[in-house]
Amino acid sequence: MATLESKSYVIGIFKGLMITGGHFIKNLLGITKRPTIMYPEQKRKYSQKFMGTHVLTKKHNGEIACTSCMLCATACPAECIHIVAAESPNPQVEKYPAIYEIDLLRCVFCGYCEDACPVDAVRMGRDYEMAELAERNFVVGIDFLMNRPSLQGKNISVFHEPKKITKSA
Ligand code: SF4
Ligand code: SF4
Repeated sequence: MATLESKSYVIGIFKGLMITGGHFIKNLLGITKRPTIMYPEQKRKYSQKFMGTHVLTKKHNGEIACTSCMLCATACPAECIHIVAAESPNPQVEKYPAIYEIDLLRCVFCGYCEDACPVDAVRMGRDYEMAELAERNFVVGIDFLMNRPSLQGKNISVFHEPKKITKSA
């Protein structure tokens, strides 16, 4: 037998409005904890595992840690890392990246570049605010990856020398 509700949509609409109105009043009076936040004044805390915009680390002397070995670019599934190697002015170092660019629009934030790097020169950072007006601004270079304002004073921009591997006899 057909119910009154199935004969008329008015009852369904009324029930829906009651549920929506109930949530509205509860939120208005602060009875329930709201899942929304007042962004950008309030910001969420993300896990330490969160993988955001990359960071190029530095050696203790301030030089870029990257040795232009291309392993990160080779491992990158999105082919969004562009490196141009050059001879380093430091006689102790063979190469450095004259250009190191990441296209953040192509990047899938998988972290493979970080895993592939043998000298801890590229890390996944914590920055997640990446809004830009022009497409070209999503291709970020060395200066942004090493020195952007959000990195100032953070350990993430400090390169930790890897332990020397000693060969056993
Ligand atoms: S996070 Fe993944 S996709 Fe992005 S640059 Fe690194 S390897 Fe490429
Ligand atoms: S960031 Fe690391 S893996 Fe990539 S080119 Fe530089 S040294 Fe090699």
